[in-house]
Amino acid sequence: SAAKTRFVERNTTSLALHNEAIKSLPGGNTRSLLHTAPFPVFLKKGEGYRVTSEDGHTYTDFVGEMTAALYGHSHPVLASALISTIQDIGLNLGGTTSLEARHAALLCARFRLSRVRFTNSGTEATLHALAGARAFTGRRKVVVFGGGYHGGCFSFPEDAPAENCVDKEDWVVATFNDPADAKAKIEGSGDVAAVLVEGMQGRGPCIVGSHAFLHQVQASARAVGAVFILDEVQTSRLSGGGLAELEGLEPDITTLGKWVGGGVAFGAFGGREDIMRVYDPRDGNALSHSGTFNNNTLAMVAGYTGLSQIYTPAVAQDFNTMGDKLRSALQELSQGTKMTVTGLGTIMGIHFLEDGRKDLKSYKDRNEDVELRELFWFEMMEEGFWITQRGSIALVLETPWQELERFVRCVGAFLERYGALV
Ligand code: PLP
Repeated sequence: SAAKTRFVERNTTSLALHNEAIKSLPGGNTRSLLHTAPFPVFLKKGEGYRVTSEDGHTYTDFVGEMTAALYGHSHPVLASALISTIQDIGLNLGGTTSLEARHAALLCARFRLSRVRFTNSGTEATLHALAGARAFTGRRKVVVFGGGYHGGCFSFPEDAPAENCVDKEDWVVATFNDPADAKAKIEGSGDVAAVLVEGMQGRGPCIVGSHAFLHQVQASARAVGAVFILDEVQTSRLSGGGLAELEGLEPDITTLGKWVGGGVAFGAFGGREDIMRVYDPRDGNALSHSGTFNNNTLAMVAGYTGLSQIYTPAVAQDFNTMGDKLRSALQELSQGTKMTVTGLGTIMGIHFLEDGRKDLKSYKDRNEDVELRELFWFEMMEEGFWITQRGSIALVLETPWQELERFVRCVGAFLERYGALV
């Protein structure tokens, strides 16, 4: 298409860099999700709510590092905390510091956890939450949901684990947003150690779990003594206390990551004291959990600074209200068109569906107009919006409302231009 041709013409430096990168990285890529066709645009710099490419184009950042770049780029408060950590404390001391206890206490209070442990990613948080649940229950099976994503090697695109999923044989995959199926699989599979669910599935993108579904999952897990693990790696930003607070859920274990490390590599898992006790090293039989960088000073300081000084519960509320306002405006435009907008607060997904259905309840139900989705990406990139090719948006703090209004206008013009009517 013409839009694709213009994309290639506008991004010749990125193309050259991509051609160099493929000589040492498979496909020139080290994060599969960031690959875009025909080639990725290379970024050079981030500042506030904007990123600039190697080709010299500046974009409003709607990728928001898949929710991790909540604070934007080089937030002055975080930058000065990180610089003074490097200068005055050091990076990784090889010993226990008060920094980890301080961040842990804050996380316990905010997300209603009794105990918490740190990792370097959300993927590792999943891994250790599951290991802990298995040790605690003495069982192996884990119930997960089709479309779920809990890390690079915990991915359930359809009704079965992805090929690179660890311990493939132990998973039972139930249907997301189907309370009856959740009940049947959790209560009927026997020996279920844990039930692992996102309140809103990031894949899709942004398929929201209904209140009835999420509460059924919790109740069924309780009924069979399985550990109820809520993956809040993305959704923790949706209120002061995450999606659990919004939905009135009381998970046994919560996994966290992304923005909670203040922009530095981070993950965490925590919850009930009796379960987390399986990791207490004072007990000779405890599970080992010893990541070299688990308590690295940069993540401990950035995470704590962000939560205590910037993203307070009041800020979280205002920010997510702004997201809701943007989504409502987009939803209004979408009436009668193939566009559907899903999500909660500041995390949302823009879909182009053949039947234009608006009640998207599962990843499998999407009957996508792939061509229209691709065209949308090319055109929004050209308008200066850095957005994922699959159509997910994670807003960045301090993005001015005028810029979101401009986006709404661009989307409206796009829908008119291509007559994306159902
Ligand atoms: N869980 C969810 C819901 C996620 O969205 C992600 C990452 O996208 C993860 C877990 C894995 O986190 P990480 O990429 O830090 O390993």
